[in-house]
Amino acid sequence: MVTGAAAEPFVVVGLDNGGTSNNATLLDASGAFVVDDLVEVPSRVLEGPQAAVEALVEGLHEVLRVTGVPLSGVRAVGLDTPGPASATGVISSKGATNFSQPEWWGYDIRTALEDRLGLPVVYNNDGNAAALYAHTVHFGADAPHRSSVTAVIGTGLGGGLVESGRVVTGAAGMAGEVGHVHIPLDGLLEPGQPVPQCNCGFRGDAESVASLTGIRLNLLPYWLSRFPDHPLHGVDVQTAARAMRGLGERGDAMALAVFEQQAKALGALFTVVANMTDPHAYFVGGGLVEAQPHFRDWFLDAVRKHALLREEQRGVDFAIVPDRDKAGARGSAMAALALAQAQPAES
Ligand SMILES: [Zn+2]
Repeated sequence: MVTGAAAEPFVVVGLDNGGTSNNATLLDASGAFVVDDLVEVPSRVLEGPQAAVEALVEGLHEVLRVTGVPLSGVRAVGLDTPGPASATGVISSKGATNFSQPEWWGYDIRTALEDRLGLPVVYNNDGNAAALYAHTVHFGADAPHRSSVTAVIGTGLGGGLVESGRVVTGAAGMAGEVGHVHIPLDGLLEPGQPVPQCNCGFRGDAESVASLTGIRLNLLPYWLSRFPDHPLHGVDVQTAARAMRGLGERGDAMALAVFEQQAKALGALFTVVANMTDPHAYFVGGGLVEAQPHFRDWFLDAVRKHALLREEQRGVDFAIVPDRDKAGARGSAMAALALAQAQPAES
């Protein structure tokens, strides 16, 4: 990542916007992170766009305060938010879970922050930022010559595609929406298991199985019916869904069946991607990153087993997206560094 411009003493800021907090980080011109920990401020998204932009500015000032770097040292800012949003940071006019008030719909958060700061701001959705982070960390100096796909299991299934070290955004910003790719259900669903339904309106896409929402709406109701004596009967479905990882780590048979099904869904998704872009690496992120190593490895192996790659594709990598909570801010900072390096330095 070191270029001619890297000798200039400057930093870039990464800002990851979430439903409750903004995470901020700082990257220097050589590509090294100046802060290890999360720097967090409240995101104030429920107070509307203006308050939320001020909260992002606050995040930037907080990370500068913590590191003792002056504002004049910042060359560019990377921003990510949950989608759906356009490739340039216009929040979807159809609304998004985190941006429910009408004043958010069609709001250009990237330009608003850029105008407020007087600094160049580059935008990615949170899945794409995490994808860029996983890619850059995994490949290091080779990152500009490699491609990858990332799938991050959370409330939904986010992620992204990286080609030659750059996020593929698409015409409308919807490239790499891995969660809403239809997957073959043959061999994935049990006989008699209902076709899983996604919040996007699709039936049988990757998110309908491989997400917390998928567990809650589709997998848990079915698998509980197969395990009539399971202790999660009578537990509210939200709590039950969140208990699954711990149960899986302890070898609970129903939890393992649920996660096996999720691994099959990711394997099927990666099979589609293998035939579309044939990437060098497949990354899986989400709560799993923090799971006990034996369980994490079991899950990743199951994903790999269910990804049907051709003989020539067998040398590719399967890996975890590192640093779950920091991946968004760090990927955003990496995007900002690329932007800063592409711009001539002011003199
Ligand atoms: Zn969907």
